[in-house]
Amino acid sequence: MIHIESYILLKEYQTNTYLLWDDLSKDAVLVDPSVPSEDMAQTVKSKQVKLKLVINTHGHGDHIAGNNYFASLFSCPVAIHPLDANMLIDNRKNLSTYMGYDLKLKSADIMLNAGDKYCLGNHTLKVIHTPGHTAGSICLLIDKYLISGDTLFEQSIGRTDFPGGSHTDIIKSIKEKLFILPDDILVFPGHGPTTSIGLEKINNPFVN
Ligand SMILES: [Zn+2]
Ligand SMILES: [Zn+2]
Repeated sequence: MIHIESYILLKEYQTNTYLLWDDLSKDAVLVDPSVPSEDMAQTVKSKQVKLKLVINTHGHGDHIAGNNYFASLFSCPVAIHPLDANMLIDNRKNLSTYMGYDLKLKSADIMLNAGDKYCLGNHTLKVIHTPGHTAGSICLLIDKYLISGDTLFEQSIGRTDFPGGSHTDIIKSIKEKLFILPDDILVFPGHGPTTSIGLEKINNPFVN
């Protein structure tokens, strides 16, 4: 069985960091570590899971700043879509310079492309490329869970006014790649509460 828990490590931006793990194999991934956090590291250790990978849904500062900390502490690689990869090493592209901290992180170890699969025990995490918020934004689908980054929020969508953003693309991504998923898929966004594909198809005012 896959477990998912969300943590807010960065109060200012209310970014959701997700820990996903398989209870049989104890394989785990950390998605969007928004800051280095000893408390979060302790949480990972207390669950006795094996952190295998850090994944960024996209390259904005509030989703990546913990990369180096967790990757080195747990000796695991960092993965991102190739179109957002240079945001890790460019403090203007990742917007951190405008957030008041200059982030220049290590380069990604793994490039995640559309359709790529990553195994967590007997479960498969699938990469969906959803450009729009950034060119390299991705969503992650595993079992009944979708981690949607800053693409789809509860009754909202990600901003598209940052460099690399495109309103046309985000709407197309949501309609053609997310709204084709079953209604009962639970959506875990980069900010805000959990929702579902079915609820967003009915209630999301930006897509309808
Ligand atoms: Zn973002
Ligand atoms: Zn964000």
